[in-house]
Amino acid sequence: MDLNKLADALIPDDDLQPPAYYEEKYPPRAMKKGAEVTRLAPSPTGFMHLGNLYVALANERIAHGSGGVLYLRIEDTDSKRKVEGAVDVIQSSLRYFGIDFDEGAEIGGEYGPYYQQQRAKIYRAYAKELIRRGRAYPCFCTEEELAAVREKQTENKLLPGYYGEFAKCRDLSEAEIYQNLAANKPYVIRFRSEGDVEKKSVFHDEIKGEITVTENNQDVVILKSDGIPTYHFAHVIDDHLMRTTLVIRGEEWLASLPIHIELFKALGFRMPRYGHNCSIQKIDETDGTRRKLSKRKDPEASLVFYREEGYHPLAVRIYLMTLLNSNFEEWHLKFPDKPVEEFRFSIAKMGKSGALFDLDKLNDVSKDVLARLSAGEMADFLQTWAEGYGTAEQQSWLTDRDYLLQVLALCMGVGAKKRRKDFVTAKQAADVISYFFRAEENPAFRADGETVKAVLQNFMAVYDPADDNAAWFDKLKKVAGALGFASDMKAYKAAPENYRGNVSDVAEIVRVALTGRANTPDLCTIMRILGAEECRRRVAGVVANV
Ligand code: GLU
Repeated sequence: MDLNKLADALIPDDDLQPPAYYEEKYPPRAMKKGAEVTRLAPSPTGFMHLGNLYVALANERIAHGSGGVLYLRIEDTDSKRKVEGAVDVIQSSLRYFGIDFDEGAEIGGEYGPYYQQQRAKIYRAYAKELIRRGRAYPCFCTEEELAAVREKQTENKLLPGYYGEFAKCRDLSEAEIYQNLAANKPYVIRFRSEGDVEKKSVFHDEIKGEITVTENNQDVVILKSDGIPTYHFAHVIDDHLMRTTLVIRGEEWLASLPIHIELFKALGFRMPRYGHNCSIQKIDETDGTRRKLSKRKDPEASLVFYREEGYHPLAVRIYLMTLLNSNFEEWHLKFPDKPVEEFRFSIAKMGKSGALFDLDKLNDVSKDVLARLSAGEMADFLQTWAEGYGTAEQQSWLTDRDYLLQVLALCMGVGAKKRRKDFVTAKQAADVISYFFRAEENPAFRADGETVKAVLQNFMAVYDPADDNAAWFDKLKKVAGALGFASDMKAYKAAPENYRGNVSDVAEIVRVALTGRANTPDLCTIMRILGAEECRRRVAGVVANV
């Protein structure tokens, strides 16, 4: 068969460059020894899974830790899965969590374009070359024919796919091919595999170590009937031409590795090193079993969840690092103030089996991260969160920056011997500080209405905003004494039936009346921040209603 003629008939484009052109256009990168070129190659489906960030962080650390390059390639060849605006979602969410690309989709770079749709000519050039070499051929099978094959394979418990006796178009004669073409039958281009599933070999996976892989025998589609490549074909060419040295990707791709190995070989490309990263798992609440974090079942599988809740990006980064590298946590405990970038990330320390995700642990990390912020940094963080995900009311709270800073300094214990760790996320923090901005509707008291009224009226009668903490507390004690709240246990022991509690119970009444909460930071400071007028207003409201 005249393969050159066949190649021209199947891929008639007259504006294609030969592969040699691309080899020269995208030369090997001049980089220092050990520098890695890694990439993230998401499909623009609109959904960003925590696993995407997990893999992104590993690639980012490896690239930047080695003085190399991290690029972003958008794998948009599957138009059915494509969602409007998805590239923005990918870029903005990764940027939010601190993943900075050196090249890629919107940034550009010497090895672009970085959208697969814009690289169609390149893939077609290489596909044409494979046809010329007899390593690719047209397949005219219809959907119905393929479905019938699948059915037969399932019935007979045979390996599914297009191979061997099932690869009907593999050995079409020249006459048959040209007849089909003349009849305008739609066709795809398939790879002609030379593999044998009986043959196994050892593959070195950068994360999993030595693994056994079975040879590929599938004549996979490389160009679809619309001329657009499949993921398998496109990514092999891209990883080669973008001069990728190392690919860290999810272990769900292990199953396609044999196809990729054979494609790299057939195209004459040197393979980058591969590391297949274990997936993120969780303990299922219903049955206690360990399972993969599911997009369908688990809201925390989506990156949007962390932004809506207002997890600090650094907290997510630190937590994912603890899952990615087994010695990170110890390092971070030892040097809590050092930037994550100073940690020596090592592929050897990446887990070989599933990483267990635990939201409580992330919450602990978040508390620590927020407790290390200054009041100003926390205010900025809250503001960013509120602009994106807060209510209009919450946004309005943040307009008086001086007031907000006072509130945050108190709630975070800025300047105290030990910082408070009341904040977990921005959303939760907004809830914690809400009483500074609006009175609670129905504060719940443990004491009866008469007692509440008496305490509030007596205390507000002597309250003076100019008092320092000691004077403020003295007044509270006096009120407690006057109303029969004992300051020691003697009175309680003498007549437990008359015991009304002590000064802390009196403080609780004032606290609940002003804040709606039984636990708050220093009440005297809260009153000072709220201001005497607001305190009186809130107390009057409570007194009128109890
Ligand atoms: N486009 C693939 C995905 O969305 C990328 C797989 C790879 O990294 O090779 O997961």
